[in-house]
Amino acid sequence: MSYRGYEPVIGIEIHVQLRTNSKIFCADATNFDASDNENVSPVSAGMPGTLPVLNKRAIEFGIRTGLALGCTIRKKSVFARKNYFYPDMPKGYQISQYDQPICENGSVTFKVNGVDKTVNISRAHLEEDAGKSNHSGAHTLINLNRAGIPLLEVVTGPDLRSPAEAAEYGRTIRQIVRYLDVCDGNLEEGSMRCDCNVSVRKVGAPEFGTKVEIKNVNSFRFVEKAIEYEIERQIDELERGGKILQETRLWDPDKNRTFAMRSKEDAQDYRYFPDPDLLPLIVSEDWIEQIRKELPELPIARAKRFQEQHGLPEYDAQVLTIEKSVADYYEATAKVSKNPKASSNWIMSELMRELNTVNMPIENSPIKPAQLGKMVELIDAGTISGKIAKTVFQEMWSTSKDPEVVVKEKGLVQITDPAAIEKIVDEVLASNQQAVDDHKSGKKKNLFGFFVGAVMKASKGQANPDMVNKILLEKLK
Ligand code: ADP
Ligand code: MG
Repeated sequence: MSYRGYEPVIGIEIHVQLRTNSKIFCADATNFDASDNENVSPVSAGMPGTLPVLNKRAIEFGIRTGLALGCTIRKKSVFARKNYFYPDMPKGYQISQYDQPICENGSVTFKVNGVDKTVNISRAHLEEDAGKSNHSGAHTLINLNRAGIPLLEVVTGPDLRSPAEAAEYGRTIRQIVRYLDVCDGNLEEGSMRCDCNVSVRKVGAPEFGTKVEIKNVNSFRFVEKAIEYEIERQIDELERGGKILQETRLWDPDKNRTFAMRSKEDAQDYRYFPDPDLLPLIVSEDWIEQIRKELPELPIARAKRFQEQHGLPEYDAQVLTIEKSVADYYEATAKVSKNPKASSNWIMSELMRELNTVNMPIENSPIKPAQLGKMVELIDAGTISGKIAKTVFQEMWSTSKDPEVVVKEKGLVQITDPAAIEKIVDEVLASNQQAVDDHKSGKKKNLFGFFVGAVMKASKGQANPDMVNKILLEKLK
């Protein structure tokens, strides 16, 4: 993609908050809804003399994510101190990983405007989160609940070439970590934070330009907008004969622009060194293989299988695999209905619409997969018509009752008895004599549909439509 003869180069660092129950180096809870400083022991507060104890779950989640991203897992990785001062980081350093991160050299592939894009994951390392400063008037209040919450920082190579690619990359990582159940993916609560590194160079230039980092962007829409803005800002600067400063900037969503926060530290400014309070982390081959075996099927593979095994169109397969919970719901429904496409249709249209209206996750749906599957089966067996099924569906949605019960209680069984349908047809024709004459004399064309509609209406939608057609054709000959 070219901007006024320049090419953007983008690398993304995403902090993924791992959903462990306790923090990475102590037993403090990690719940988001805790009151300020409720989850703070002397370890989280960085008291002298306290010692970190590594959380095994956090390592497992880190490895699981690394494996899903095709990374090599280091048998020996090292925790290092990253020294810098912030009021919300009372130890004066953050425990992170530096030259020996747990995951390295992976990649992720996703589609941007229908075209496959592969991005290298250069590393993914474990670290602890810092606390949070809340500025109010002349005061700053510090909340250390977040201090020590485990993060996996996933870092790409400088491989992205457009704002849209960067945003789509972020959405893909979110989808994957949610499939893996290692992160809730809740961007508003800060469970995923993106740092966007952006530089520009003349198209065809061999070297990268100086990069600027936009920190802590908290939505993928903002990732796209912030990078778009930054590309234009850098090109303006260069065209004006200026230079790009290596700096950290922030995105202002209200003003739609980035602004300078601080000039960027180089690695040596952090004076990284191995944390003497923590031994090197050694993980066994057995453990890695066990985690690999337990990896869930990931979205792209699952969508492919839905097409091959269930014969779904690509579009259905993609929509149904966006969320693991939806894919699980779909498979459970199709298993009962034995009609994959009809199950897909009901989920993608009726069910999704109801869920979206009340903003309800599919796990909480009042209609369970087995019930929806059974309903589809009733349609296929001819017990109810597709039209009646909509009524049944609504009743199931509001009462959670089984479809058979709804059909029975409401007397919605399809009428398939020819004599019963013939009786209704005769009544309808008798009370529409004028129309019958018009039809027979050929005075008015296209009255057939009118008769079908009238019979269906008279039967309260319960007459089998094929039989209605057939009987009407004979009677109107
Ligand atoms: P830092 O030490 O400043 O954090 P890293 O080498 O760790 O820098 O890279 C951070 C991120 O910036 C990575 O995602 C990397 O791919 C990306 N990156 C590196 N150089 C450039 C560049 N010139 N332009 C855009 N992105 C870059
Ligand atoms: Mg970095």
